[in-house]
Amino acid sequence: MDSQNHVFVDGAIVIQHNSIIAIGKSIDILTQFTSISHQLIDLRGQILLPGLINTHVHTSQQLARGIADDVDLLTWLHDRIWPYESNMTEEDSFISTLLCGIELIHSGVTCFAEAGGQHVSGMASAVEVLGLRACLAESIMDYGEGLPASWAARTTDECIKSQKDLFMKHHNTADGRIKVWLGIRQIMNSTDRLLTETRDTAKELETGIHMHIAEIPYENQLIVETRGVDNGTVTYLEKIKFLQNNLLAAHTVWVNEKEIDCLAKAGVKVSHCPAAAMRMLGFSPIKEMLSAGVCVSLGTDGAPSNNRMSIVDEMYLASLINKGREVFSTGTTNPTALPAETILRMATINGAKSALWDKEIGSLEVGKKADIVVINPSSWSMMPIHDCFCAPRLIPRDMCHFTSNKYKHFQPCLLHEN
Ligand SMILES: [Zn+2]
Repeated sequence: MDSQNHVFVDGAIVIQHNSIIAIGKSIDILTQFTSISHQLIDLRGQILLPGLINTHVHTSQQLARGIADDVDLLTWLHDRIWPYESNMTEEDSFISTLLCGIELIHSGVTCFAEAGGQHVSGMASAVEVLGLRACLAESIMDYGEGLPASWAARTTDECIKSQKDLFMKHHNTADGRIKVWLGIRQIMNSTDRLLTETRDTAKELETGIHMHIAEIPYENQLIVETRGVDNGTVTYLEKIKFLQNNLLAAHTVWVNEKEIDCLAKAGVKVSHCPAAAMRMLGFSPIKEMLSAGVCVSLGTDGAPSNNRMSIVDEMYLASLINKGREVFSTGTTNPTALPAETILRMATINGAKSALWDKEIGSLEVGKKADIVVINPSSWSMMPIHDCFCAPRLIPRDMCHFTSNKYKHFQPCLLHEN
């Protein structure tokens, strides 16, 4: 994964400390680095990818898997999830984040963006132990329907102060693996002052904002009725200059063409969570957003909106449901909608851009952090292997320099033996 989608068949990567210092064909790399002392890790026959990035996770909700199946979004929030979340202790958040992180790691995730949850200090302690990177955010609401009593008592000033304190305490901790962002849970529970002060505070702290945007038609209707705009949330956020390139917009399902242009022009990033969207929200115009130049990445959402926390499942779903949506909306098939290369970019470099971390992660290039996942394609569900974006092609034995005399201490890889 780099700007040209290079695939190095028989590749090698040199890592010094925690950064990539060389990448290319292994014959070139091994010749170049013969004199330095190094430890070789033999991964022949396997696939190396940048660590996958999940850009919409609710660590607090991991212990709530299964408490809100088959209900509409407002019932899900007001009657099931918020009463649960508002009763969490810091220790609950620590345990919930640990469990969530283990499931993320299991699907190849090395970095995630928290959508806004309870007890950032508990999350941060767990992330420290897990070894992941994370953009953590607090769940922030200061107004509107459905709030549990303890949350309804919170003032706008308290919401901003609490996040500033968390930023000072945890930002750039765990050897730089933890960033602290600002959260806006959703517009229906935010005053105008909370929105504009969040925008200004994020600018002042040079950090990001994570917010659920345009999730259901009711949200847009409410904004039209109460805030004097002719469409919905995105139109209103554009009006108050909230749309900026540090905004990560989750879901963003109910948006029109004009609003997609606004998102693209402002450099807003979108986290597409296909499983959660199919459960409660609808089909987001992802192909249109990508065509307009919006940076779209992938997220699982929380355990009770998905019941799974696998970013690989979301990659699979994103490819299929966006092809299916094309058939439904245009009356004809379009097999090129969201091809495999695009999906891989969404789960890696677009994820890094969404997390405002693309200078350091999201691709395997010299100078970037060595956040790498290794895929073993020699399992029954991945054989045979024909396409390098699904799995690498088999290499004829005479092209494999590992079997030459110079490197005869290596065993021939299993693929060749077979
Ligand atoms: Zn969410």
